[in-house]
Amino acid sequence: MPPLSVLQPITHPIFTQHKLTVQVKRDDQIDGIISGNKWRKLKYNLLHAKSIGAKGVITFGGCFSNHIHACAFACQQQQLPVIGIIRGEDNHQDNYTLAWAKNWGMQLSFVDRKSYRLRHDEHYLQQLQQQYPDHLIIPEGGSNSLALTGVAEVINELNQQSEFDTLITPVGSGGTLAGLIVGDKSQHNLLGIAVLKQQDYLENEVKALLPSRSKNAHNWRIAHEFHRGGYAKFSPQDAEKIRNFSDIVGIGFEPVYSGKMILALLELIESGYFPAHHRIVLLHTGGLQGLAGMFERGLLNQDEWPSLPVPPVQ
Ligand SMILES: *Cc1c(COP(=O)(O)O)cnc(C)c1O
Repeated sequence: MPPLSVLQPITHPIFTQHKLTVQVKRDDQIDGIISGNKWRKLKYNLLHAKSIGAKGVITFGGCFSNHIHACAFACQQQQLPVIGIIRGEDNHQDNYTLAWAKNWGMQLSFVDRKSYRLRHDEHYLQQLQQQYPDHLIIPEGGSNSLALTGVAEVINELNQQSEFDTLITPVGSGGTLAGLIVGDKSQHNLLGIAVLKQQDYLENEVKALLPSRSKNAHNWRIAHEFHRGGYAKFSPQDAEKIRNFSDIVGIGFEPVYSGKMILALLELIESGYFPAHHRIVLLHTGGLQGLAGMFERGLLNQDEWPSLPVPPVQ
């Protein structure tokens, strides 16, 4: 199969100074609307839903979730009805992400934080399945074993595209990193950048997702020094640094996922983490729709950031 996204070399004075080669796997460009890694994670889930004749899909996410946005659009394309169980935050129910999800036909069901916490609870999920017997339940972020199969294809593609030493990816729920571990035959270093403040927990999440044949892989680690205090937290200086990097390399990043990977990359290079002539690949996981919620809340200035995949719903 031909690669779904290009591998783009980028230049920056700091790479030259440290004699490093850096390329970006442009998964952000796989689809105009579906966020890069969410496309990979949904692919086999939705094929599975079709193959078992599911009448619909049920999934989970927050109000600004890239997964909810991607899943709503992908299900519309596949003509699969979809229910989104959303962690309810009253004032965000008509935001960009959810307005589009609704527009693409997702049925939104808002639950309070306490109920939302049950999303991984076996008993709750059994009840939900009984309530919707013909539906495929996809976990938050799309992270399950079918998602790993989709993400593993990134490695097959990279193996056709270039030789490299280290692949870097942002880590949220860990599904993407787990998929890369499954796809890699321990040829490369896989470095995950935690975007949440969850020391050790994330390693366990990744291990729990791995199939037994990959449980002994040792070619991966998660760096926890770059989350900036937690999910979606960042300083104005961080935002400025990400924008500046985007300007130099000509690729848009956002500060929740891919931008934290960039901050990590720059700091790791400065600290001498990578030896000279090291060949680095950055996985651009997409997520630019997430900027919309920050524009709406006045956290970022829209004029300074990449444009949104689609204009706000009128
Ligand atoms: C969801 C997401 C991630 C995190 O992926 P996980 O598989 O949950 O670790 C990274 N980047 C972007 C843009 C995302 O939307």
